[in-house]
Amino acid sequence: MHKIAVLPGDGIGPEVMKQALKVLDKISKKYNIQLTYEFADVGGIAIDKYDTPLPKHTVKICENSDAILFGSVGGPKWENLPPEKQPERGALLPLRKHFNLFANIRPVKVFKPLKDACSLKNELISEGIDIVIFRELTSGIYFGQPKYISEDRTYAVDTMKYSVEEIIRIAHLAFEAAKLRNNKVTSVDKANVLMSSVLWRETVTEIHKKFYTDVELQHMYVDNASMQLVRNPNQFDVILTGNMFGDILSDEAAMLSGSLGMLASASINESGFGLYEPIGGTAPDIAGQNIANPIAQILSAAYMLRYSLKSDSAATDIENAIEQVLNEGYRTADIFSGKDGEKKVNTEEMGNLICEYI
Ligand code: NAD
Repeated sequence: MHKIAVLPGDGIGPEVMKQALKVLDKISKKYNIQLTYEFADVGGIAIDKYDTPLPKHTVKICENSDAILFGSVGGPKWENLPPEKQPERGALLPLRKHFNLFANIRPVKVFKPLKDACSLKNELISEGIDIVIFRELTSGIYFGQPKYISEDRTYAVDTMKYSVEEIIRIAHLAFEAAKLRNNKVTSVDKANVLMSSVLWRETVTEIHKKFYTDVELQHMYVDNASMQLVRNPNQFDVILTGNMFGDILSDEAAMLSGSLGMLASASINESGFGLYEPIGGTAPDIAGQNIANPIAQILSAAYMLRYSLKSDSAATDIENAIEQVLNEGYRTADIFSGKDGEKKVNTEEMGNLICEYI
């Protein structure tokens, strides 16, 4: 029995979450996985009801769960509130901190039928794209101390710091993921100029030698990695990197997919507890119209099955169903190009089709 905290949030969040839960109901019956859902308010809707984007009882529900399925939060109504009250800053960041979600997993998948939407030339991605980025999320230069601007504002300091322990725990996750995929890890650093990267490289090499000699390990400087992502993305399987490099590379890689409605991410902690969410926002321009693409939210449910509930086959089953629905030409408005064979469907219909193909 797995308890899932469901936090749909604002805008398109509730519409796409409904489809993800429909898919989870279908897959859980097929694989005999017992799921129970506890719903809680987060973001703008929580501000309206309780005057805070992250009410205490929402945190309590998350604490009593095995994973958090998150929609998205925010919208024009709450944009002018003070920073700590803003839906994203006041809900997502505290949740990541509270649960020590140190590993951000960002799969970048361009399904073959959608390769025309990719920003790269077709011949570079004949088979689509399938990469997973493991980014360290709670340390590195964004958090290292000291961090300040001098009193006379003539200089500023940030500190890039990584401990061996922090590197080891994310390295294990990346190697374990590679074993379920194409068995290759590319560790990205800047070891030619940064001491923290020298330690990063040494530590990853050691973990590889000790535990994962059956996985291929490659080291790459971050400047080269950003170039290789647009030159030949299919050379990558799992990318393992620190906080700042991961921040930049994951957005670069996301753009390869062409639509925000197709990508999700996972943030997990040492015990495998995780928060799963689409990478896009609340899409206020299309909210409430039943036209949003639910695939990102459905993929976030698949990643929850894979990374927190350890049911890789159920996750793969969902991904295959999505691919088949796309192969049949079904498209929500954001990925509809009007080509022969394409059939436009709404949010609800897309959810139903994916359920049918499971
Ligand atoms: P957005 O991602 O909401 O929308 C950008 C564009 O992508 C819009 O045209 C939107 O219609 C489209 N889009 C996004 N998801 C889609 C989907 N599933 N299907 C079809 N089209 C989709 O970004 P924005 O407009 O910059 O932000 C809107 C609000 O969302 C803001 O309040 C922002 O703070 C918030 N936001 C929240 C999160 C989060 O909760 N993690 C992330 C990003 C933005």
